[in-house]
Amino acid sequence: MRKYLLVGVLGSGKSTHAAMLTRDFDLVRISAGDILRWHVGHHTKIGARVRETMAAGRLVDDSLVEGIIRERLEQHDWNHGFVLDGFPRNRRQAEFFLERYDVDAVICLDVPDAQARDRALSRRMCGDCGLDYNLIGGRPRREGVCDSCGGRLEAREDDTPEALTARIDDHRENIAALLDRLRRKAPVFVVDASRDPDTVQEEIRMLLRLPSQRFGHRQDGHKT
Ligand code: AMP
Repeated sequence: MRKYLLVGVLGSGKSTHAAMLTRDFDLVRISAGDILRWHVGHHTKIGARVRETMAAGRLVDDSLVEGIIRERLEQHDWNHGFVLDGFPRNRRQAEFFLERYDVDAVICLDVPDAQARDRALSRRMCGDCGLDYNLIGGRPRREGVCDSCGGRLEAREDDTPEALTARIDDHRENIAALLDRLRRKAPVFVVDASRDPDTVQEEIRMLLRLPSQRFGHRQDGHKT
């Protein structure tokens, strides 16, 4: 069983690295942002409560996000473990989490603010399946169309310059206290995520003592 937390500023590659780990080690990726976007897209009561807050780039109410994460983890569909992407985001959420679960390691993806901003502004997301694209490094095969499901690619509603500033400020305000709290329970590795995704992923795997990507895609690490 492996339980990892991935934290980092917007555009630091949390979703990319969570996806690479979950794919190869049979883990479940749980992203508070994805669940909240699902609620907004499906016009649920929760969606109505969080829509404006999210669009403005502000953090959603702690107890609401904690409830969502608790419910998701209670599904217990994570036999081999999970990667939490974007939760916890502050000290209070960390307390909530650590009272209920243990954690093997925390990866903090670090990129300079200017690069985070550039990456987010070039990001596009599929409105149907949620897959992420990047107009710098990961362009879709057909412009504006999702390679996976054919859905329409669009900028995230909260990737506007104003919302980016709010989100970066929130991150900078919370990160030191968050990491201090987490460090008391698990090793915290700060990784320079300004490099290309494969290099960053290799370093993450080395730190977590997981087999390299070069050894294929089986979770026991045997070459495929
Ligand atoms: P993300 O997809 O991680 O960039 O999150 C998108 C938005 O969802 C954030 O800007 C917040 O409005 C909200 N959100 C995601 N995770 C959290 C969290 N742990 N606490 C509060 N708000 C969150």
